[in-house]
Amino acid sequence: MFSNGTLPDARELERRFAVLDPEAYNRAACERYAGLIAEIEQLKRERRALILAHNYQRPEIFEVADFVGDSLELARRARETGNAEVIVFCGVHFMAETAKVLNPERTVLLPDLHAGCSLADSVTAEALADRKAELGALYPDLKVVCYVNCTADVKAISDACCTSANALKVVEAIDSQHVLFVPDRNLADYVQSHTRKTILSWDGNCYVHHQITPSEIGRVKSAVPGIQVLAHPECRKDVLALADAVLSTSAMVRYAQQSDADKFLVVTECGLSDRLLTEVPTKRFFKACKLCRFMKMITLEGTRDALRDLRYEITLPAGVLAGARQALERMLELGG
Ligand code: SF4
Repeated sequence: MFSNGTLPDARELERRFAVLDPEAYNRAACERYAGLIAEIEQLKRERRALILAHNYQRPEIFEVADFVGDSLELARRARETGNAEVIVFCGVHFMAETAKVLNPERTVLLPDLHAGCSLADSVTAEALADRKAELGALYPDLKVVCYVNCTADVKAISDACCTSANALKVVEAIDSQHVLFVPDRNLADYVQSHTRKTILSWDGNCYVHHQITPSEIGRVKSAVPGIQVLAHPECRKDVLALADAVLSTSAMVRYAQQSDADKFLVVTECGLSDRLLTEVPTKRFFKACKLCRFMKMITLEGTRDALRDLRYEITLPAGVLAGARQALERMLELGG
């Protein structure tokens, strides 16, 4: 986004970033992928499978998804999979693990095992156990809240999990004054700015959100008068300070639908703008061209192969399944 360091004028911004014709966009995508989409739909029926897709997926993945949402919605939905025998998770590894934790009896598939996450990689269970012991000696009431963007074994040694949509609620509801919040420092800072509790943070970040700077936001705000800035709390605090609303990805969709404003700068991974394009075609969205390389590893071809060959299956040790499930259930109980 805005990578050349100059200030584009409003017309240039519109040419580069605005949504022009959602219908034409959808038509072109459908024509290009029609064969693959039909193949996937057929395999879904044969396998009694359900496809869950994160908001940051490629737009063509939305065409085959049974449900599209943010981490919290997908965690809830994974518990309500009805009589599906197979869940194909179009997202990244820790999300597929979460689906497995909530559906231990079902086969959970991730179409590409390389679909990881820089944020989840920034904390290991061993490092967290050490830090917990160190801080626990200083603060006997210490509790660990982990953002859902971490591995299942990190969740298993946390007291509660949270998402960006309910992080503040979980921290406020947990019975301790001192909270070790892992792994996202930016989200920890955001929570700290809204609570009287003491947040002890971890030095992790999402490489996609952390690279967005206040000057990029400032340039668009000056070039497009009246634009509403919607930012994800994984962004730096100097970026959040410029936002009209700080929201999880699905909350951004609801905000855009309900707001009186008609143009928005969407400050998060740019896949969300593709969802906004299809769901709110009457408004205009300027997107941050920040792609998550991990999310974009999931393709229609990979999804078809996952269903056809039942690959790549997510498995977890029983102890990790039980511990992570407890942290996730605590989140659903505390965070609504
Ligand atoms: S956008 Fe960031 S937090 Fe989300 S999967 Fe990609 S690297 Fe991880």
